Order: sequence, then C-alpha cells, then structure tokens
Amino acid sequence: MEITFNRIVRASRAKQALAKRAVEVASAISGIQSPRVEFFEMVAPTRAPDVIVTEVPALGFYTRSAVFVRNDLGNSQTIKTCFHETSHASQQVTARRTLRVLSDNASEREARLFCLEHLSGLRHDASEKEAIVFLDRLEKRFKQQLRERCAALVKQANQRFIAMNRIKAVNGVEYR
Ligand SMILES: [Zn+2]
Repeated sequence: MEITFNRIVRASRAKQALAKRAVEVASAISGIQSPRVEFFEMVAPTRAPDVIVTEVPALGFYTRSAVFVRNDLGNSQTIKTCFHETSHASQQVTARRTLRVLSDNASEREARLFCLEHLSGLRHDASEKEAIVFLDRLEKRFKQQLRERCAALVKQANQRFIAMNRIKAVNGVEYR
C-alpha cells in the first residue's frame, strides 16, 4: 500500500473529448448511463480537503459516480483507463441491482478482460485522430450486433404474436 494523493485538474479540450467519447462507448457496450469524467494528477501528501486519496498510485479510479483519469496519459492509455473504470462503474450498477458483488480480484479481472475484449486492436501510440476513428468503429460494430440481435427478437415476438392470435402468416403484407 502506498497512500497516494490525487488532485482534480482541468484537462485539455481534446483530452476531455477523447475520454468522454471512450466512456460513452464503453458505457453503451456495458448498458449503463455514461458516468462523468474527471482528470487528476498525483500530488505530494497534503491536508487540502479537495484531494482524493487512493491506496496505491493509479492510472484511474471510479468513485463518486465518476470516472477519474490521470491527466498525463497518452491517447491509447487514456482510452484503456476509461474502459477499465467504466467496467467498474458497470459492476457497481449490477451490484446495486442484483446484490451480486465481486471480490477485488474478480472485479479487476473483469475490468481487464473488458479492455482486452474491446481494445486489443488499439495501437499503443495511436494519434488522437486514430483513437477517435477506433472508437467510432468499435461503436458501429457494437450497434450492428445489437441491431442483429434485436431483429432476431422482433422476428420471434412476431411469430409468437401470430401464433397466439391465430393469424395466418402472409408473405409480402402491404401496410397502408
Ligand atoms: Zn480496476
């Protein structure tokens, strides 16, 4: 344990936009509302009331319903940290809803797997533009998967409705 003091700072507009977008995509994949994003830097031990104390130095953490990201990370690491912490946010939502609580090890494993699953194609030294393009593609792929799943469910529901109401299924129905 190495108690660390973190002070909230204001990130550049570009970094704020990138992190917000990463949290947005990760939240969509996790099926939760996007948490707020804040940035921090590590500071020397202080009694100032506005610092957040963590048990170890961290690239990011999730607390007070917000994702906190260290301000000095590159594009790729910023995205990874956002995904990791959004996974923790999602775990908390699940815990509140179902009382399914993970051990520290299991919750870390889940967050790491979430990043591996979705971000393994992200280049370490991705430029800002590459990072945004990567997130756009990831979101598009995910939404396409959702649409396909949804289409299958709608088809099933239609068939059930037709069977329940003893409607003769007709091909090529025209709606007016
Ligand atoms: Zn973690």
